[in-house]
Amino acid sequence: MAEGPIRVRFAPSPTGQLHVGNARTALFNWLYARGRGGTFVLRIEDTDRERSTAASEASILEDLRWLGLSWDEGPDAGGPHGPYRQSERFALYRQQAAQLLAAGQAYYCFCSPERLDTERKKALAAGRPYRYPGTCRRIGPEEAARRREAGEPAVVRFRVPNRPMVRFVDLVRGELAFATEVIGDPVLLRSDDTPAYNFAVVVDDVSMRITDVVRGEDHISNTPRQVLLYEAFGYPVPRFAHLALVLGPDHTPLSKRHGATSVREFRDRGYLPEALVNYLALLGWSPGGGEELLPLDELARRFSLEAVGHSAGVFDPEKLAWINRHYMKTADPSRLVRDTARYFRARGFLRAADPAGLAYLGDAMTMAAGSVDRLEEIPDRLRFLFEHDAASALARPDVREVLGGPGARDVVSALAAELAETPRLADREAFRAAAARVRARTGARGRALFHPIRVALTGEAGGPELDLAVPAIDRGAELPPSAGLAPIPGCRERAAAFSRALQDAVPS
Ligand code: GLU
Repeated sequence: MAEGPIRVRFAPSPTGQLHVGNARTALFNWLYARGRGGTFVLRIEDTDRERSTAASEASILEDLRWLGLSWDEGPDAGGPHGPYRQSERFALYRQQAAQLLAAGQAYYCFCSPERLDTERKKALAAGRPYRYPGTCRRIGPEEAARRREAGEPAVVRFRVPNRPMVRFVDLVRGELAFATEVIGDPVLLRSDDTPAYNFAVVVDDVSMRITDVVRGEDHISNTPRQVLLYEAFGYPVPRFAHLALVLGPDHTPLSKRHGATSVREFRDRGYLPEALVNYLALLGWSPGGGEELLPLDELARRFSLEAVGHSAGVFDPEKLAWINRHYMKTADPSRLVRDTARYFRARGFLRAADPAGLAYLGDAMTMAAGSVDRLEEIPDRLRFLFEHDAASALARPDVREVLGGPGARDVVSALAAELAETPRLADREAFRAAAARVRARTGARGRALFHPIRVALTGEAGGPELDLAVPAIDRGAELPPSAGLAPIPGCRERAAAFSRALQDAVPS
Protein backbone atom coordinates (compact mmCIF):
# COMPACT_ATOMS: atom_id res chain seq x y z
CA MET A 1 0.00 0.00 0.00
CA ALA A 2 1.08 3.56 -0.71
CA GLU A 3 3.27 5.33 1.84
CA GLY A 4 3.89 9.04 2.15
CA PRO A 5 1.54 11.98 1.70
CA ILE A 6 -1.99 11.07 0.75
CA ARG A 7 -3.55 12.01 -2.56
CA VAL A 8 -7.31 11.67 -2.98
CA ARG A 9 -9.62 12.48 -5.83
CA PHE A 10 -13.24 13.45 -6.25
CA ALA A 11 -14.38 12.23 -9.64
CA PRO A 12 -17.84 13.46 -10.60
CA SER A 13 -19.50 12.60 -13.89
CA PRO A 14 -20.85 15.86 -15.34
CA THR A 15 -24.28 14.56 -16.27
CA GLY A 16 -26.45 16.78 -14.07
CA GLN A 17 -26.43 18.78 -10.87
CA LEU A 18 -24.20 17.88 -7.92
CA HIS A 19 -26.27 15.55 -5.71
CA VAL A 20 -25.90 16.05 -1.96
CA GLY A 21 -24.72 12.43 -1.66
CA ASN A 22 -21.87 13.18 -4.06
CA ALA A 23 -21.21 16.45 -2.26
CA ARG A 24 -20.75 14.42 0.91
CA THR A 25 -18.28 12.18 -0.94
CA ALA A 26 -16.38 15.29 -2.04
CA LEU A 27 -16.49 16.61 1.51
CA PHE A 28 -15.14 13.41 3.08
CA ASN A 29 -12.30 13.39 0.53
CA TRP A 30 -11.61 17.01 1.32
CA LEU A 31 -11.72 16.54 5.11
CA TYR A 32 -9.43 13.54 4.85
CA ALA A 33 -6.92 15.35 2.63
CA ARG A 34 -6.98 18.63 4.53
CA GLY A 35 -6.74 16.96 7.92
CA ARG A 36 -3.54 15.18 6.88
CA GLY A 37 -1.77 17.69 4.72
CA GLY A 38 -2.72 15.66 1.65
CA THR A 39 -3.66 16.68 -1.87
CA PHE A 40 -7.23 16.87 -3.17
CA VAL A 41 -7.59 16.25 -6.90
CA LEU A 42 -10.72 17.03 -8.91
CA ARG A 43 -11.18 14.82 -11.94
CA ILE A 44 -14.03 15.07 -14.41
CA GLU A 45 -15.26 11.66 -15.57
CA ASP A 46 -16.81 12.62 -18.88
CA THR A 47 -16.09 9.53 -20.99
CA ASP A 48 -19.82 9.26 -21.63
CA ARG A 49 -19.86 11.93 -24.33
CA GLU A 50 -23.59 11.74 -24.81
CA ARG A 51 -24.62 12.41 -21.24
CA SER A 52 -21.78 14.73 -20.19
CA THR A 53 -22.15 18.47 -20.65
CA ALA A 54 -19.89 21.46 -20.14
CA ALA A 55 -22.75 23.20 -18.33
CA SER A 56 -22.98 20.40 -15.78
CA GLU A 57 -19.22 20.46 -15.23
CA ALA A 58 -19.28 24.23 -14.69
CA SER A 59 -22.14 23.95 -12.25
CA ILE A 60 -20.44 21.16 -10.25
CA LEU A 61 -17.28 23.26 -9.96
CA GLU A 62 -19.31 26.25 -8.88
CA ASP A 63 -21.18 24.24 -6.24
CA LEU A 64 -17.95 22.79 -4.83
CA ARG A 65 -16.48 26.28 -4.60
CA TRP A 66 -19.64 27.55 -2.98
CA LEU A 67 -19.38 24.78 -0.37
CA GLY A 68 -15.79 25.84 0.32
CA LEU A 69 -14.24 22.58 -0.93
CA SER A 70 -11.18 23.84 -2.74
CA TRP A 71 -9.05 21.47 -4.84
CA ASP A 72 -5.31 21.49 -5.46
CA GLU A 73 -5.34 19.98 -8.93
CA GLY A 74 -8.19 19.94 -11.40
CA PRO A 75 -9.45 20.91 -14.85
CA ASP A 76 -9.26 24.63 -14.10
CA ALA A 77 -6.44 24.61 -11.55
CA GLY A 78 -4.13 22.43 -13.65
CA GLY A 79 -1.41 20.39 -11.95
CA PRO A 80 1.43 18.00 -12.72
CA HIS A 81 -0.76 14.99 -13.58
CA GLY A 82 -3.25 16.52 -16.00
CA PRO A 83 -5.25 16.84 -18.05
CA TYR A 84 -7.98 16.34 -15.44
CA ARG A 85 -10.85 15.64 -17.82
CA GLN A 86 -11.14 12.07 -19.04
CA SER A 87 -12.29 13.26 -22.46
CA GLU A 88 -8.82 14.82 -22.88
CA ARG A 89 -7.00 11.64 -21.92
CA PHE A 90 -8.10 9.20 -24.60
CA ALA A 91 -4.60 8.97 -26.11
CA LEU A 92 -3.27 7.95 -22.69
CA TYR A 93 -5.88 5.19 -22.32
CA ARG A 94 -4.91 3.81 -25.74
CA GLN A 95 -1.25 3.95 -24.84
CA GLN A 96 -1.83 2.14 -21.53
CA ALA A 97 -3.96 -0.49 -23.26
CA ALA A 98 -1.14 -1.01 -25.77
CA GLN A 99 1.25 -1.54 -22.88
CA LEU A 100 -0.99 -4.24 -21.34
CA LEU A 101 -1.41 -5.85 -24.79
CA ALA A 102 2.35 -5.93 -25.31
CA ALA A 103 2.82 -7.55 -21.90
CA GLY A 104 0.16 -10.17 -22.63
CA GLN A 105 -2.04 -8.83 -19.82
CA ALA A 106 -4.68 -7.82 -22.34
CA TYR A 107 -5.85 -9.24 -25.66
CA TYR A 108 -8.02 -8.40 -28.63
CA CYS A 109 -11.50 -9.88 -28.60
CA PHE A 110 -13.42 -10.27 -31.85
CA CYS A 111 -16.63 -11.68 -30.41
CA SER A 112 -19.54 -9.86 -32.03
CA PRO A 113 -22.09 -8.09 -29.84
CA GLU A 114 -24.72 -10.52 -31.19
CA ARG A 115 -22.69 -13.51 -30.11
CA LEU A 116 -22.14 -12.07 -26.61
CA ASP A 117 -25.80 -11.27 -26.37
CA THR A 118 -26.82 -14.81 -27.25
CA GLU A 119 -24.38 -16.18 -24.67
CA ARG A 120 -25.74 -13.82 -22.04
CA LYS A 121 -29.33 -14.80 -22.73
CA LYS A 122 -28.48 -18.50 -22.58
CA ALA A 123 -26.79 -18.06 -19.22
CA LEU A 124 -29.72 -16.10 -17.85
CA ALA A 125 -32.22 -18.67 -19.11
CA ALA A 126 -30.20 -21.37 -17.31
CA GLY A 127 -30.21 -19.24 -14.16
CA ARG A 128 -26.40 -18.74 -14.24
CA PRO A 129 -24.77 -15.32 -13.89
CA TYR A 130 -23.11 -14.42 -17.20
CA ARG A 131 -19.38 -14.09 -17.43
CA TYR A 132 -17.35 -13.72 -20.64
CA PRO A 133 -15.96 -17.23 -21.25
CA GLY A 134 -12.58 -16.08 -22.60
CA THR A 135 -13.26 -17.18 -26.17
CA CYS A 136 -10.59 -14.91 -27.71
CA ARG A 137 -7.96 -15.39 -25.00
CA ARG A 138 -5.98 -17.75 -27.16
CA ILE A 139 -5.82 -15.58 -30.26
CA GLY A 140 -2.14 -14.66 -30.65
CA PRO A 141 -0.81 -11.19 -31.52
CA GLU A 142 -0.09 -12.04 -35.18
CA GLU A 143 -3.54 -13.40 -35.87
CA ALA A 144 -5.11 -10.46 -34.03
CA ALA A 145 -3.07 -7.98 -36.08
CA ARG A 146 -4.09 -9.72 -39.31
CA ARG A 147 -7.78 -9.69 -38.48
CA ARG A 148 -7.71 -6.07 -37.39
CA GLU A 149 -5.93 -5.05 -40.56
CA ALA A 150 -8.62 -6.85 -42.51
CA GLY A 151 -11.07 -4.49 -40.82
CA GLU A 152 -12.63 -6.84 -38.27
CA PRO A 153 -13.87 -4.84 -35.26
CA ALA A 154 -12.25 -5.74 -31.94
CA VAL A 155 -12.33 -4.68 -28.30
CA VAL A 156 -9.39 -4.93 -25.90
CA ARG A 157 -10.00 -7.14 -22.89
CA PHE A 158 -8.06 -7.53 -19.68
CA ARG A 159 -6.78 -11.02 -18.97
CA VAL A 160 -7.99 -11.65 -15.40
CA PRO A 161 -5.17 -13.47 -13.62
CA ASN A 162 -5.71 -17.01 -12.55
CA ARG A 163 -5.91 -16.78 -8.77
CA PRO A 164 -8.70 -17.47 -6.31
CA MET A 165 -9.32 -14.18 -4.50
CA VAL A 166 -9.01 -10.42 -4.82
CA ARG A 167 -8.55 -8.64 -1.52
CA PHE A 168 -8.46 -4.99 -0.61
CA VAL A 169 -8.52 -2.81 2.46
CA ASP A 170 -11.59 -0.68 3.00
CA LEU A 171 -11.08 1.84 5.78
CA VAL A 172 -14.82 1.95 6.47
CA ARG A 173 -15.62 -1.75 6.14
CA GLY A 174 -12.39 -3.51 6.98
CA GLU A 175 -10.66 -6.00 4.70
CA LEU A 176 -12.83 -7.29 1.83
CA ALA A 177 -12.30 -10.36 -0.36
CA PHE A 178 -14.01 -11.34 -3.61
CA ALA A 179 -13.75 -14.56 -5.61
CA THR A 180 -11.90 -13.92 -8.89
CA GLU A 181 -13.75 -16.64 -10.77
CA VAL A 182 -16.92 -14.55 -11.09
CA ILE A 183 -15.00 -11.81 -12.90
CA GLY A 184 -15.14 -12.23 -16.66
CA ASP A 185 -12.28 -10.57 -18.58
CA PRO A 186 -13.46 -6.93 -18.62
CA VAL A 187 -13.36 -4.74 -21.71
CA LEU A 188 -10.70 -2.01 -21.48
CA LEU A 189 -11.16 -0.34 -24.86
CA ARG A 190 -14.27 -0.55 -27.00
CA SER A 191 -14.07 -1.22 -30.73
CA ASP A 192 -14.15 2.55 -31.38
CA ASP A 193 -11.04 2.92 -29.14
CA THR A 194 -12.93 4.66 -26.34
CA PRO A 195 -12.07 3.51 -22.80
CA ALA A 196 -14.39 1.48 -20.61
CA TYR A 197 -15.22 3.17 -17.32
CA ASN A 198 -13.23 0.87 -14.98
CA PHE A 199 -10.16 1.14 -17.15
CA ALA A 200 -10.19 4.94 -17.36
CA VAL A 201 -10.58 5.17 -13.57
CA VAL A 202 -7.55 2.99 -12.91
CA VAL A 203 -5.33 4.59 -15.56
CA ASP A 204 -6.20 7.96 -14.02
CA ASP A 205 -5.70 6.89 -10.42
CA VAL A 206 -2.32 5.44 -11.35
CA SER A 207 -1.13 8.41 -13.37
CA MET A 208 -2.49 10.88 -10.80
CA ARG A 209 -0.65 8.95 -8.04
CA ILE A 210 -3.85 8.45 -6.00
CA THR A 211 -3.26 6.78 -2.62
CA ASP A 212 -6.82 6.66 -1.24
CA VAL A 213 -10.12 6.17 -3.05
CA VAL A 214 -13.05 7.57 -1.09
CA ARG A 215 -16.34 7.11 -2.94
CA GLY A 216 -19.92 5.91 -2.71
CA GLU A 217 -20.61 2.27 -1.96
CA ASP A 218 -22.41 1.98 -5.30
CA HIS A 219 -18.87 1.54 -6.71
CA ILE A 220 -17.89 -1.36 -4.48
CA SER A 221 -18.71 -3.94 -7.14
CA ASN A 222 -16.24 -2.23 -9.53
CA THR A 223 -13.44 -2.46 -7.01
CA PRO A 224 -12.23 -6.07 -7.47
CA ARG A 225 -11.76 -5.48 -11.21
CA GLN A 226 -10.01 -2.21 -10.55
CA VAL A 227 -7.72 -3.81 -7.96
CA LEU A 228 -6.58 -6.37 -10.55
CA LEU A 229 -5.84 -3.53 -12.95
CA TYR A 230 -3.78 -1.51 -10.44
CA GLU A 231 -1.76 -4.68 -9.88
CA ALA A 232 -1.34 -5.23 -13.62
CA PHE A 233 0.20 -1.76 -13.80
CA GLY A 234 2.48 -2.62 -10.89
CA TYR A 235 0.92 0.22 -8.89
CA PRO A 236 0.44 0.03 -5.10
CA VAL A 237 -3.29 -0.65 -4.66
CA PRO A 238 -4.92 2.40 -3.01
CA ARG A 239 -6.73 2.20 0.29
CA PHE A 240 -10.47 2.36 -0.26
CA ALA A 241 -13.31 3.85 1.72
CA HIS A 242 -16.78 3.09 0.39
CA LEU A 243 -19.32 5.41 1.96
CA ALA A 244 -22.86 4.28 2.64
CA LEU A 245 -25.42 6.06 0.49
CA VAL A 246 -27.49 8.95 1.76
CA LEU A 247 -31.09 7.84 2.29
CA GLY A 248 -34.41 9.63 2.43
CA PRO A 249 -36.67 9.38 5.50
CA ASP A 250 -38.23 6.18 4.08
CA HIS A 251 -34.76 4.55 3.92
CA THR A 252 -34.55 4.42 0.13
CA PRO A 253 -31.70 6.31 -1.62
CA LEU A 254 -32.30 10.06 -1.49
CA SER A 255 -33.99 11.03 -4.73
CA LYS A 256 -36.30 13.60 -6.27
CA ARG A 257 -39.26 11.91 -4.61
CA HIS A 258 -37.93 13.16 -1.28
CA GLY A 259 -37.73 16.78 -2.42
CA ALA A 260 -34.48 18.69 -2.88
CA THR A 261 -31.49 16.50 -3.75
CA SER A 262 -28.98 18.76 -5.46
CA VAL A 263 -26.65 21.23 -3.83
CA ARG A 264 -28.06 23.86 -6.19
CA GLU A 265 -31.58 23.34 -4.92
CA PHE A 266 -30.48 23.75 -1.31
CA ARG A 267 -28.56 26.86 -2.27
CA ASP A 268 -31.57 28.29 -4.11
CA ARG A 269 -33.77 27.69 -1.10
CA GLY A 270 -31.49 29.70 1.11
CA TYR A 271 -29.26 27.30 3.00
CA LEU A 272 -25.85 28.70 3.85
CA PRO A 273 -22.91 26.68 2.49
CA GLU A 274 -21.32 26.30 5.94
CA ALA A 275 -24.62 24.88 7.23
CA LEU A 276 -24.90 22.38 4.39
CA VAL A 277 -21.29 21.12 4.68
CA ASN A 278 -21.55 20.95 8.45
CA TYR A 279 -24.74 18.92 8.11
CA LEU A 280 -23.27 16.62 5.45
CA ALA A 281 -20.21 15.98 7.64
CA LEU A 282 -22.52 14.60 10.33
CA LEU A 283 -24.13 12.10 7.94
CA GLY A 284 -22.32 8.95 8.97
CA TRP A 285 -19.61 10.56 11.05
CA SER A 286 -19.38 12.40 14.36
CA PRO A 287 -16.68 14.89 15.34
CA GLY A 288 -16.95 13.65 18.96
CA GLY A 289 -16.91 15.58 22.22
CA GLY A 290 -20.66 16.10 21.94
CA GLU A 291 -19.99 18.92 19.50
CA GLU A 292 -21.70 19.14 16.15
CA LEU A 293 -21.54 22.74 15.01
CA LEU A 294 -17.97 23.18 13.87
CA PRO A 295 -16.23 25.02 11.02
CA LEU A 296 -14.69 23.07 8.13
CA ASP A 297 -11.08 23.36 9.30
CA GLU A 298 -11.96 21.99 12.73
CA LEU A 299 -13.98 19.17 11.15
CA ALA A 300 -10.92 18.36 9.02
CA ARG A 301 -8.69 18.31 12.09
CA ARG A 302 -10.91 15.73 13.76
CA PHE A 303 -11.90 13.68 10.72
CA SER A 304 -10.95 10.05 10.28
CA LEU A 305 -12.28 7.56 7.74
CA GLU A 306 -12.04 4.75 10.28
CA ALA A 307 -14.66 6.57 12.37
CA VAL A 308 -17.15 6.72 9.50
CA GLY A 309 -20.06 4.36 10.11
CA HIS A 310 -21.01 1.67 7.62
CA SER A 311 -24.71 2.16 7.96
CA ALA A 312 -26.43 4.61 5.70
CA GLY A 313 -27.15 8.16 6.82
CA VAL A 314 -30.78 9.25 6.72
CA PHE A 315 -31.18 12.79 5.47
CA ASP A 316 -32.94 14.81 8.16
CA PRO A 317 -34.32 18.15 6.88
CA GLU A 318 -35.20 19.27 10.43
CA LYS A 319 -31.63 18.95 11.57
CA LEU A 320 -30.36 20.75 8.49
CA ALA A 321 -32.80 23.59 9.23
CA TRP A 322 -31.57 23.74 12.83
CA ILE A 323 -27.95 24.00 11.67
CA ASN A 324 -28.91 26.62 9.09
CA ARG A 325 -30.62 28.72 11.76
CA HIS A 326 -27.47 28.58 13.84
CA TYR A 327 -25.29 29.86 10.99
CA MET A 328 -27.79 32.53 9.97
CA LYS A 329 -27.88 33.84 13.54
CA THR A 330 -24.12 34.07 13.73
CA ALA A 331 -23.54 35.38 10.19
CA ASP A 332 -22.41 38.91 9.53
CA PRO A 333 -25.53 40.99 8.55
CA SER A 334 -23.92 42.49 5.45
CA ARG A 335 -23.15 39.01 4.18
CA LEU A 336 -26.74 37.95 4.87
CA VAL A 337 -27.94 40.91 2.84
CA ARG A 338 -25.70 39.92 -0.05
CA ASP A 339 -26.96 36.34 0.05
CA THR A 340 -30.59 37.34 0.50
CA ALA A 341 -30.63 40.11 -2.13
CA ARG A 342 -31.95 37.76 -4.83
CA TYR A 343 -35.03 36.97 -2.74
CA PHE A 344 -35.67 40.63 -1.92
CA ARG A 345 -35.37 41.37 -5.64
CA ALA A 346 -37.79 38.60 -6.54
CA ARG A 347 -40.34 40.12 -4.17
CA GLY A 348 -39.82 43.58 -5.65
CA PHE A 349 -38.54 44.95 -2.31
CA LEU A 350 -35.03 45.56 -3.63
CA ARG A 351 -34.76 47.43 -6.91
CA ALA A 352 -31.14 48.57 -7.14
CA ALA A 353 -27.96 47.81 -5.20
CA ASP A 354 -27.31 51.06 -3.37
CA PRO A 355 -25.18 51.16 -0.20
CA ALA A 356 -27.86 53.07 1.76
CA GLY A 357 -30.57 50.53 0.94
CA LEU A 358 -28.30 47.57 1.60
CA ALA A 359 -27.18 49.02 4.94
CA TYR A 360 -30.82 49.47 5.88
CA LEU A 361 -31.56 45.82 5.06
CA GLY A 362 -28.47 44.81 7.04
CA ASP A 363 -29.89 46.53 10.14
CA ALA A 364 -33.22 44.83 9.53
CA MET A 365 -31.57 41.38 9.51
CA THR A 366 -31.60 41.18 13.32
CA MET A 367 -35.41 41.05 13.12
CA ALA A 368 -35.39 38.08 10.77
CA ALA A 369 -32.27 35.93 10.82
CA GLY A 370 -32.95 34.30 14.17
CA SER A 371 -36.52 33.33 13.45
CA VAL A 372 -36.54 31.63 10.04
CA ASP A 373 -35.10 28.36 8.74
CA ARG A 374 -33.77 29.65 5.43
CA LEU A 375 -32.62 32.86 3.75
CA GLU A 376 -35.48 32.57 1.30
CA GLU A 377 -37.94 33.18 4.15
CA ILE A 378 -36.32 36.45 5.29
CA PRO A 379 -38.13 38.84 2.89
CA ASP A 380 -41.44 37.43 4.01
CA ARG A 381 -40.52 38.03 7.62
CA LEU A 382 -39.70 41.66 6.69
CA ARG A 383 -42.61 42.11 4.32
CA PHE A 384 -44.33 44.38 6.86
CA LEU A 385 -41.69 47.04 6.17
CA PHE A 386 -42.67 47.37 2.52
CA GLU A 387 -46.32 46.49 2.50
CA HIS A 388 -49.01 48.05 4.61
CA ASP A 389 -52.56 47.63 3.44
CA ALA A 390 -55.12 48.46 6.12
CA ALA A 391 -58.04 46.88 4.28
CA SER A 392 -56.41 43.48 3.79
CA ALA A 393 -55.07 43.56 7.36
CA LEU A 394 -58.59 44.14 8.63
CA ALA A 395 -59.76 41.08 6.71
CA ARG A 396 -57.43 38.82 8.68
CA PRO A 397 -59.07 36.89 11.52
CA ASP A 398 -56.08 37.24 13.87
CA VAL A 399 -56.00 41.00 13.35
CA ARG A 400 -59.77 41.25 13.92
CA GLU A 401 -59.39 39.30 17.12
CA VAL A 402 -56.88 41.83 18.45
CA LEU A 403 -59.17 44.71 17.49
CA GLY A 404 -62.12 43.05 19.21
CA GLY A 405 -60.32 43.38 22.57
CA PRO A 406 -61.53 46.06 25.07
CA GLY A 407 -60.27 49.53 24.21
CA ALA A 408 -58.38 48.35 21.12
CA ARG A 409 -60.15 50.70 18.73
CA ASP A 410 -59.45 53.64 21.06
CA VAL A 411 -55.77 52.77 21.05
CA VAL A 412 -55.75 52.83 17.25
CA SER A 413 -57.37 56.24 16.99
CA ALA A 414 -55.22 57.65 19.80
CA LEU A 415 -52.14 56.33 18.02
CA ALA A 416 -53.17 58.02 14.77
CA ALA A 417 -53.79 61.30 16.60
CA GLU A 418 -50.53 61.04 18.51
CA LEU A 419 -48.36 60.26 15.48
CA ALA A 420 -49.95 63.05 13.46
CA GLU A 421 -48.17 65.47 15.78
CA THR A 422 -44.94 63.56 16.37
CA PRO A 423 -41.71 63.46 14.35
CA ARG A 424 -40.64 60.08 12.91
CA LEU A 425 -39.91 57.42 15.54
CA ALA A 426 -36.27 56.99 14.67
CA ASP A 427 -35.28 54.87 17.67
CA ARG A 428 -36.59 52.73 20.49
CA GLU A 429 -36.79 55.68 22.92
CA ALA A 430 -38.91 57.73 20.52
CA PHE A 431 -41.25 54.76 20.10
CA ARG A 432 -41.48 54.14 23.86
CA ALA A 433 -42.28 57.81 24.47
CA ALA A 434 -45.03 57.78 21.83
CA ALA A 435 -46.50 54.56 23.27
CA ALA A 436 -46.49 56.15 26.75
CA ARG A 437 -48.47 59.09 25.43
CA VAL A 438 -51.02 56.72 23.82
CA ARG A 439 -51.30 54.97 27.15
CA ALA A 440 -51.90 58.34 28.85
CA ARG A 441 -54.62 59.18 26.33
CA THR A 442 -56.41 55.81 26.59
CA GLY A 443 -55.47 54.16 29.86
CA ALA A 444 -54.58 50.97 27.94
CA ARG A 445 -51.45 49.18 29.04
CA GLY A 446 -49.46 46.03 28.34
CA ARG A 447 -50.91 43.76 25.69
CA ALA A 448 -54.05 45.87 25.40
CA LEU A 449 -51.80 48.74 24.35
CA PHE A 450 -49.15 47.03 22.26
CA HIS A 451 -51.23 44.53 20.32
CA PRO A 452 -53.46 47.15 18.70
CA ILE A 453 -50.35 49.26 18.00
CA ARG A 454 -48.75 46.27 16.33
CA VAL A 455 -51.69 45.45 14.06
CA ALA A 456 -52.15 49.11 13.12
CA LEU A 457 -48.49 49.65 12.20
CA THR A 458 -47.51 46.28 10.75
CA GLY A 459 -50.85 44.87 9.56
CA GLU A 460 -49.94 41.62 11.32
CA ALA A 461 -50.82 40.11 14.69
CA GLY A 462 -47.30 38.72 15.22
CA GLY A 463 -43.77 39.54 14.17
CA PRO A 464 -40.51 41.03 15.40
CA GLU A 465 -40.30 43.07 18.61
CA LEU A 466 -41.99 46.45 18.22
CA ASP A 467 -38.96 48.16 19.76
CA LEU A 468 -37.09 47.09 16.62
CA ALA A 469 -39.89 47.03 14.06
CA VAL A 470 -41.31 50.53 14.65
CA PRO A 471 -38.02 52.46 14.38
CA ALA A 472 -37.15 50.30 11.34
CA ILE A 473 -40.39 51.39 9.65
CA ASP A 474 -39.78 55.06 10.32
CA ARG A 475 -36.10 54.97 9.36
CA GLY A 476 -37.16 53.26 6.13
CA ALA A 477 -39.74 55.97 5.47
CA GLU A 478 -36.94 58.55 5.44
CA LEU A 479 -34.92 56.74 2.77
CA PRO A 480 -34.73 58.52 -0.59
CA PRO A 481 -35.79 56.60 -3.74
CA SER A 482 -32.09 56.42 -4.69
CA ALA A 483 -31.62 53.90 -1.85
CA GLY A 484 -33.00 51.32 -4.27
CA LEU A 485 -35.76 49.92 -2.04
CA ALA A 486 -39.49 49.72 -2.58
CA PRO A 487 -41.12 52.72 -0.80
CA ILE A 488 -41.59 52.17 2.92
CA PRO A 489 -44.70 53.87 4.32
CA GLY A 490 -44.04 55.58 7.66
CA CYS A 491 -45.81 54.93 10.98
CA ARG A 492 -47.76 58.20 10.83
CA GLU A 493 -49.26 57.33 7.44
CA ARG A 494 -49.91 53.74 8.50
CA ALA A 495 -51.70 54.72 11.70
CA ALA A 496 -53.84 57.27 9.85
CA ALA A 497 -54.80 54.83 7.10
CA PHE A 498 -55.50 52.04 9.54
CA SER A 499 -57.61 54.18 11.82
CA ARG A 500 -59.64 55.46 8.88
CA ALA A 501 -60.19 51.97 7.51
CA LEU A 502 -61.21 50.77 10.94
CA GLN A 503 -63.79 53.51 11.31
CA ASP A 504 -65.22 52.64 7.89
CA ALA A 505 -65.31 48.92 8.65
CA VAL A 506 -68.36 47.22 10.07
CA PRO A 507 -67.67 46.69 13.80
CA SER A 508 -66.74 43.09 14.44
N1 GLU B 1 -17.55 9.08 -11.69
C1 GLU B 1 -18.00 8.27 -10.60
C2 GLU B 1 -19.29 8.87 -10.04
O1 GLU B 1 -19.61 9.99 -10.33
C3 GLU B 1 -16.98 8.19 -9.49
C4 GLU B 1 -16.07 7.04 -9.66
C5 GLU B 1 -15.03 6.88 -8.59
O2 GLU B 1 -14.98 7.68 -7.63
O3 GLU B 1 -14.24 5.96 -8.71
O4 GLU B 1 -19.99 8.20 -9.35
